[in-house]
Amino acid sequence: MFFIRFTSLLAFCFFITACTHKVDGVIVDEELVPFYESFAEEAAKRGIVFDNAEEQIEGYIQSIASDGVLGACRRNEDNDDSPQIFLDKPYWKTATTLEKEYVMFHELGHCFLKLGHDDSEDDVGNCISIMASGLGGCRVNYNPTSRDELIDELFSK
Ligand SMILES: [Zn+2]
Repeated sequence: MFFIRFTSLLAFCFFITACTHKVDGVIVDEELVPFYESFAEEAAKRGIVFDNAEEQIEGYIQSIASDGVLGACRRNEDNDDSPQIFLDKPYWKTATTLEKEYVMFHELGHCFLKLGHDDSEDDVGNCISIMASGLGGCRVNYNPTSRDELIDELFSK
């Protein structure tokens, strides 16, 4: 889950361990497909294979009830149910492509790379990881200049 704190939006991350429904094939909202593809491309550049036919990570755009939560990854480590990614619909409608990518990569960091949060910051206070919770003290600084380095960091964890 990811939230932007500095714009007064609060976010927090949770793994829901309740039951999920297994669906044949992978359900991915078509608006999310380009981000699954770019994630796979960035992974491949770094020697990591992301094949969602294998991973079966479902993706949905829907309103998330919790205030400030922009996205969530739901996965159950105790069974083989498909992991699910949820993107907050109101946020999605207004977000830039770069903002959408950031939240998607964050959630795939949870759901595919199985990463937790990292609120480490550099010497000017910028988050050094895409896996920042949004609740820590660091400032998200995902832009065309910092993008490559942050994606390197994500796949090196
Ligand atoms: Zn998160």
